Amino acid sequence: MTNPIDITKLVRKNVRELTPYQSARRIGGKGDIWLNANEYPISPHYELKQQNFNRYPEPQPQQVLERYANYAGVKPEQLIVSRGADEAIELLMRAFCEPQHDSIIFCPPTYGMYLVSAQTLGINYKAIPQTVDWQLDLPTIEQNLNHVKLIYICSPNNPTGNLLNPNDIKKLLTMAANRALVVVDEAYIEFSHENSIVSWLADFPHLVILRTLSKAFALAGLRCGFTIANPPIITALQKIIAPYPLATPVADIAAQALTNENLIAMQLHVVNLNKQKQKLIEQLETLNMVEKIYPSDSNYILVKFKNGQYIFKTLWEKGIILRDQHKQHGLANCIRISIGTTAECDALVHALMTIHNKDE
Ligand SMILES: *Cc1c(COP(=O)(O)O)cnc(C)c1O
Repeated sequence: MTNPIDITKLVRKNVRELTPYQSARRIGGKGDIWLNANEYPISPHYELKQQNFNRYPEPQPQQVLERYANYAGVKPEQLIVSRGADEAIELLMRAFCEPQHDSIIFCPPTYGMYLVSAQTLGINYKAIPQTVDWQLDLPTIEQNLNHVKLIYICSPNNPTGNLLNPNDIKKLLTMAANRALVVVDEAYIEFSHENSIVSWLADFPHLVILRTLSKAFALAGLRCGFTIANPPIITALQKIIAPYPLATPVADIAAQALTNENLIAMQLHVVNLNKQKQKLIEQLETLNMVEKIYPSDSNYILVKFKNGQYIFKTLWEKGIILRDQHKQHGLANCIRISIGTTAECDALVHALMTIHNKDE
């Protein structure tokens, strides 16, 4: 008889203590209306063009780089393509932060992966809450720059939906110069494309911009994201990225998604989604249970209800799956709602109206 071995005690301490990222898919749920992951509600259709599956893929698929560079208004050498923007968040930490020594900063309420990646890698972090109007608390950030290598900010911010004030981002870049990189997560920028700060790369060697095909391009299932930065940063990331980060079918479909024709289709989808968002906001504004709808530059809205957790749970049981935000800093009673099809949004409003009636 061998002794039972406690494998868990072999796991790294920080991993043993880690709460994994609570992705929409991990949380689960059962239903027909999924408005919890900021996905585009309809899938585009693509067919594979490449058939050379016996070969390893290109480490950085040239056509994808060239087309994305063209789309983003940068040079291919200012890009690295990865397994979603999520991989890029972690690559930056692996390339720039010494575990147990260096820190990152992020500003809650915000996207959860900055924290989870830091905890996974044993990198220190400073969570510096945003101001009450959900902008950067620059004085507090300035006081906390010691040992900080990366400052992650998100604009439009997930889950609040608002853009960060560009003057604040500029001030942050100035205060971080020669100390830390400023990473601006633009996962939702297509919904507010005139607000991208990609043109600032010429002036700020320590600016990094994250992008993805998961949101406006409707390709969350593809797992394809981009880091835009000046060449010295890209070179550092290329050293540590996996040898073949993008599978051949992923590169194939990403290249197709970036043709001029498909870019125009994507932009049309954005216009329609923004219209649907406006319509949903107007419908929700008529409901008594809704306390506040926050302005949104993204493909979701953050809504504060009178009793958010009850609303969330009741809709969940009806098969309408939203994203509860009440545990996030400052977001009691708030639910994030991804914009779905007209039918999905109408079903949501209808379900809310029936809850409303029961309460009275
Ligand atoms: C969805 C999202 C990502 C992740 O994008 P992937 O390319 O799907 O990994 C990154 N940042 C923010 C703010 C997001 O909402």
